[in-house]
Amino acid sequence: MAIITTFESLDQQIKKAGGKPVVLEALWSGDTNGWYLSCYLYTVTYPFFFRREHHYFLGQVAVPEGTEYFTNSKLTIEGVAEALGNQAAQKYGLTFYFPAKDGPDDECPAWTERHLGILCQDCGKLILPRKSPYIPQEICYPCHLKREWDESLRKAEPADDGYNLCLLKGDECLKMGYCTKFEAFTIAPFIRDKVQQRITKEIVSIVALDIADILVLKGQLETVLDKLLLAYEKPYIEERMKKFIGTYKVQYQGREYELMDRRNQVHADIASYIYNIETAEKAITEGYTYQFFFKQGITSRDDSVLRFVHYVCKGETIIFNIQQRYVHSLTAEEVSATIGKLVQIGCLTVSGERVSITTLGNCIV
Ligand SMILES: [Zn+2]
Repeated sequence: MAIITTFESLDQQIKKAGGKPVVLEALWSGDTNGWYLSCYLYTVTYPFFFRREHHYFLGQVAVPEGTEYFTNSKLTIEGVAEALGNQAAQKYGLTFYFPAKDGPDDECPAWTERHLGILCQDCGKLILPRKSPYIPQEICYPCHLKREWDESLRKAEPADDGYNLCLLKGDECLKMGYCTKFEAFTIAPFIRDKVQQRITKEIVSIVALDIADILVLKGQLETVLDKLLLAYEKPYIEERMKKFIGTYKVQYQGREYELMDRRNQVHADIASYIYNIETAEKAITEGYTYQFFFKQGITSRDDSVLRFVHYVCKGETIIFNIQQRYVHSLTAEEVSATIGKLVQIGCLTVSGERVSITTLGNCIV
């Protein structure tokens, strides 16, 4: 399959197809590994003066390395496709059909189905009418998610789920794992009682495990892992399943174990216990404490503003940028109040116009 990264690579595929190119089509498809943007070509030929139409798959668009195609200063596949498609339209006088220009969406009709499409009422994109009774008919799925997000922000819905296990030493914070529910951590059953006793009533309650706690935990994890390793069996994967299941190797106490990467709970447990023992060892030898952050009163607004400062602004921005981010979702007073609350609970600091995330803020997003 051809990977299309430049106009030359696209043009090569168009020429290979032959005939007169009339429509270049770019459509998204997705699976568990991610999204793909495929290019198709419709051409016409006139053998013996009869018009014949042809349809070709040209390849998948990918972001080339070191390219000049930028969208908001970030490279995107859709940005590359749009630039290449427009160039092809100019060169061949063809129609460039790319219904989901703004990002992945596999609900858009193909060129030949476009008469079945309706326009998304929020963004104007052509989509096929959806059959699900749970999602509105009149908007595309990304716009549906955006409406839900706006609604959640307006209502300031609770957003207390989500836990990071952090290793802390001074201002240094290493995120070692994330779970939506605390109980999902492999170490949760071993530390639950200690943690329960140490939770306070604060909006962000910090629960720490010191070296003594971590030593006890490590011993408990080793006991369970020893039992699991006694029951260890090498991977057995049926021939027909080899496409879906892979294996990888881990080392523990000088021995190597081959583990299946799915469909084997014992192997998954062995990998998880080894990882957690290694984490405990790191904390003990390098002097970190374990910290968990229990959120009890964080709203979708707080969470969203923190994520914006942390991930989009890389930890620091100005108040104006935060106001701009929420200009269509919240009032200026609501944004100011959110920033004020995050400062009060120690997740942000504000100095003049400048807003920075703190170590605590970094630990809870
Ligand atoms: Zn839309």
